[in-house]
Amino acid sequence: MKLHMQILIALGLGIKRNWHIFSGIILGILAGLFLHGHQYPALLALLTFIGQVFIRLIQMVVIPLVVSAIIIGITSVGDNRQLGKFGTKMIFYYGIITVAAVTIGSILALVFKPGLGAAGYITANSASEVQASVASAMAEQQGNILNIFLGFIPNNPMHSFAMGDMVPIIVFVLIFAVALAKVGDVNRPIVSFFESVFAATMKITDWIMFLAAPGVFALTASAVSSFGIDIFASISKYLLVLLIGFMLQLCVVYPLFLKFFSKVNIGMLYSAVAEAMMVAFGTASSSATLPLTIACCEKRGISHKISSFVLPLGATLNMDGTALLQTVAVIFLAQAYGVALTPFLVIEIALLAIVASSTCAGIPGAGLITIALILNGMGLSPEQLIAGFAFLFTIERVTDMMRTLVNVTSDAVVVAAIADNENEINYDLLNNPQAYEEIA
Ligand code: ASP
Repeated sequence: MKLHMQILIALGLGIKRNWHIFSGIILGILAGLFLHGHQYPALLALLTFIGQVFIRLIQMVVIPLVVSAIIIGITSVGDNRQLGKFGTKMIFYYGIITVAAVTIGSILALVFKPGLGAAGYITANSASEVQASVASAMAEQQGNILNIFLGFIPNNPMHSFAMGDMVPIIVFVLIFAVALAKVGDVNRPIVSFFESVFAATMKITDWIMFLAAPGVFALTASAVSSFGIDIFASISKYLLVLLIGFMLQLCVVYPLFLKFFSKVNIGMLYSAVAEAMMVAFGTASSSATLPLTIACCEKRGISHKISSFVLPLGATLNMDGTALLQTVAVIFLAQAYGVALTPFLVIEIALLAIVASSTCAGIPGAGLITIALILNGMGLSPEQLIAGFAFLFTIERVTDMMRTLVNVTSDAVVVAAIADNENEINYDLLNNPQAYEEIA
């Protein structure tokens, strides 16, 4: 099947699986248009309240989810030297793909300037407040660039947990998880503990997703009611930039990557994982798609040894689509608030997007939440930018579906390259599209 047909089918499936959320968006737009220009302060306050409840609930699970996912992922590698070798290669490959994503994201966002369309909606007061915060954070950091890295090392991890400082939290958890992996079987109680934490937070996430439709409805309605229909004209450039970026990843970066590092044929690989790509689009969750990604890869000849190790880590740590979106979104916000985008700031945004995206859990909406980490590094908090965020939220679900498709596809690209390098791929199966029919 042609790639564009697969994407169309994915779109159809996505709407079918998430019809209630799509209805939330559409009804939110209609309600917002109706409310625009009318004076219903109580109703607007209620909508804002529902939207905030939804956002706070998602934020509530981020730390336990990220911590447990990293500990489970790293300890599953164990202390086996061979797995250590795959691990290094995996991080190198995931790194290349993610660096390509943030580079594409920053270039496109700087060229097309999607944030300028939103600038008119930002009050002068909040813009100058944001500009001042960024300027002082940048002055502090540029004075001593080493301080940025120093700030990544927590001198008191509990303090970082309490403050929600994601980068020091991740640094601590990574070191802790590697140590756990090294100590062998004695780690079982802790690892089992975090397996339970992970399962329970995934369950809570499931519950929170019941609120997705009303949450998205409320957020969309309150955004549209304050901005009116013009918001779509302002946001269309942002959507276009993202679309171009994602297409470049899928149609240029991955084919080149596979050509360079393996003998895998990109068309064959896409046909192998088409179903996983569609489900990724439909569920907007890399984690939920993981079982299918593994099944698609194994049915088409990638060995279980490689796929069972690389794909679960990829579904947690490799989020190049999210990194691309986060780079574009933060540059969008900077442009909307009139923050000067110096080369230093752009590089910092791109680097932080790599960290923020890999700390992001493979669940719907996580990518927009971990943007807080990038803003944090720029001396900002999401609350200061709430008017700008309202724009991004109007089309959050659609962009989530697209970036998740990209995230899952790159997991498959990397697993195929590693399997090729390790002679762990059966090319007779991979290059035989008929084999795809057999996937249960
Ligand atoms: N939904 C994305 C995923 O599961 C993560 C994100 O929100 O960017 O891959």
